[in-house]
Amino acid sequence: MRVTLKPNKLRALLGGHPWILDGSLELLDKSNTPQDGSVVDVYSDKGRFFARGLYNSHSKIRVRLYTWNESESLDDAFWTKRISTAIDLRKELGYFSQATRLINSEGDALSGLIVDKYEDVLVMQATSLGILLRAEQFAQILQNLTGAKTVIATTEPAMARREGAPEELTADRVFGAPVPETMVIQSGGIKYEIQLLGGQKTGFYLDQRENRLAAAELFKGKTVLDMFCYHGGFSIAASQAGAVSCLACDSSAKALEQVKKNAQLNAVDNVETLQGDSFQILERFKSEGRTFGGVVLDPPKFAQGKRSVQEALRGYHYLNKLGISCVAPGGFLVTCSCTGSVRREDFFDMLHGAASQAGRRIQILQQRGAAPDHPVLDSCPETDYLKCFLCRVI
Ligand code: SAH
Repeated sequence: MRVTLKPNKLRALLGGHPWILDGSLELLDKSNTPQDGSVVDVYSDKGRFFARGLYNSHSKIRVRLYTWNESESLDDAFWTKRISTAIDLRKELGYFSQATRLINSEGDALSGLIVDKYEDVLVMQATSLGILLRAEQFAQILQNLTGAKTVIATTEPAMARREGAPEELTADRVFGAPVPETMVIQSGGIKYEIQLLGGQKTGFYLDQRENRLAAAELFKGKTVLDMFCYHGGFSIAASQAGAVSCLACDSSAKALEQVKKNAQLNAVDNVETLQGDSFQILERFKSEGRTFGGVVLDPPKFAQGKRSVQEALRGYHYLNKLGISCVAPGGFLVTCSCTGSVRREDFFDMLHGAASQAGRRIQILQQRGAAPDHPVLDSCPETDYLKCFLCRVI
C-alpha cells in the first residue's frame, strides 16, 4: 500500500534515517489504511517513490524503513540477504565463535530486530510490531544461516505497549530444540552463567564486553566499587586484571547471587557484594569519607523518549557527582550511560558539571561506546546509545 509524506517532511529524511515518525505522513483515507505491520511504499508529496518499510499506526515510529530502492521487495530473499550481511560482519570481526550481538537493529539496517548468539542458541528480540509478526520467518532464516539449534523469540512488555502488539504474540516462543535452563558462556575471557528462559530469564550485556576489559586495565592494584553491577562483569574483569578488591553493588538480590556464582566460575575470590540502592550507598560512602581507587557507574536507562532527556541528565549529574566524591585522588572513574536520547556531548557537559560541583577535575582517557558487534549507523544517531568514559579523577 502507498503512503505519502507531508510536503516539508522529506528533507529531514534524505540523510537515510530509518524512522518516519507520526505526524510525518499525510492523513490516510479511513477506508483504506495499511494494516499494522504491513509493507508500505512511501512517496513524496510530488508523487515520487522514496522508500519501503513496515507500517504501524500504534507506534510513534509510524514507518520503519528498510530499502530506498524501488525494485527491492521486502520478501524472504531480501531479509535473508540483510541478515546474512549482518552475520558476515561478525564473522569478519572474529565474534561469531563467541557470545555476540548478531543483529543490532538499525545498526544493521534491520530496525526492530535484535539477535544475540549464545553458543548454538539465538535470542531474537523484536522491538517493533512489524518484526514481531515475522518472528517465525526470521527464526527460520536465522537457523538456516547460522545452523543454530534453537531460536528464542522474546519481547519486552514496554515494547508491546509502545507498539500495540497483541498479547498472544508477546509470550516467549521457542523455535527448534529445547533450551537448557542455564548455560555457561564466555564473553571477553570471562565465564558467566546465564538463564535464557522462564521467569528467571535474564538478559546479558554484550555491549560492555570490551569496556569491562579496558576498565580492568586501569584497576590493577586498586580497590574497586562497581555500582549497578548486575552479574558482576566489571568486578570479575577487574579482579582478573589484578584489582586488590571489588565491591559489587546492585539493588537486585538475584543479580548479586549471580555475581557470586560467576566469581566462583572464574575462580575469583576478592569480589564482595552489597545489596541496596546505588544512590543511597554512594551517599553513605560520601558522608563516611570512604573512597576507592576505581569506581564504575553503569546505571540502567534513565529516559525512554526525547522528552525526558533533561530529567535523565539531572539523574546522571547527581549520580556522577556522588561517584566522583568516592574516587580517591588520582583514582579512576568509569562512567556509562545507555540512554539513547542523551547525546555524547550532553554526557560530556554533564560530567564536567558534576566534577566541578564535587570540587574535582577530570581527565578523560577514553570515550568509548558499545562493542563493535553493536554497530552505530551514521544516519541514526540513536544507535550511539552507549557512552562509556574512562577518566582519571584529580
Ligand atoms: N554493569 C552491568 C550492567 C548493569 S545493568 C554489566 O556490566 O553487565 C543495570 C543494573 O542496575 C541492573 O542490574 C539493575 O538491577 C540495577 N539497578 C537499577 N536501579 C538501581 C538502583 N537504584 N540501585 C542499584 N542498582 C540498580
